[in-house]
Amino acid sequence: MISLSLNQKDRFQEAREMMVRVQIVDRGVKDEAVLNAMRKVPRHLFIPEEYINEAYDDNPLPIGYGQTISQPYIVAFMSEVAEPNPSKTVLEIGTGSGYQAAILAEIVKKVYSVEIVPELALESAERLKKLGYKNIVIKHGDGYKGWKEFSPFDIVIVTAAAEQIPEPLIEQLAENGRLIIPIGAPNAVQELILLEKKKGKIEKSRLTFVRFVPFKRL
Ligand code: SAH
Repeated sequence: MISLSLNQKDRFQEAREMMVRVQIVDRGVKDEAVLNAMRKVPRHLFIPEEYINEAYDDNPLPIGYGQTISQPYIVAFMSEVAEPNPSKTVLEIGTGSGYQAAILAEIVKKVYSVEIVPELALESAERLKKLGYKNIVIKHGDGYKGWKEFSPFDIVIVTAAAEQIPEPLIEQLAENGRLIIPIGAPNAVQELILLEKKKGKIEKSRLTFVRFVPFKRL
């Protein structure tokens, strides 16, 4: 049986260490808090059991409903770019398995995450509860609208590829906030974009090329 305890050693601990060293540190991710979170969170508990032995491989994996859990390096890279710290509040669009939410929740004060597939919203909420995360709140809905009630957010992280940046997400970004989003056509290579809000103005930078599942609308 797989233990759900985060503190207990599991048989994948070495695989996780290796993943961090070879896939993440060697590719330039330096943020110690992010690296520690990647070493700690049991990725094998966020994927369907049939893929359990591929949990720490260098690629995305299917999580059902046509969706995927992102490649570990991309999760680490996006987390580092977000500049997480214990004072920050995060809005994630695209909960999926809940893995990216868990990585950030290890570092920040609170993670709000919106998922459009109701089954995934439910499954990931249950998973994160079992794993003991008390600072993640998930809701089913269309993330295009963000989550106004809890805004503004220091970090907004979108894990599905949109053709344009949803305006409400920019509005809900705090001053000095960072919004990270893959922009581009569905089922193509997209560009990962960082938006920073400085004195009310938006600064945009292009980070790298990525491939995410499409941003859907309800
Ligand atoms: N962050 C996830 C990766 C999920 S893949 C993880 O760590 O596992 C992208 C997810 O975005 C999918 O689950 C998909 O259903 C969801 N999604 C797509 N469009 C959305 C939208 N408009 N609002 C909320 N979630 C959306």
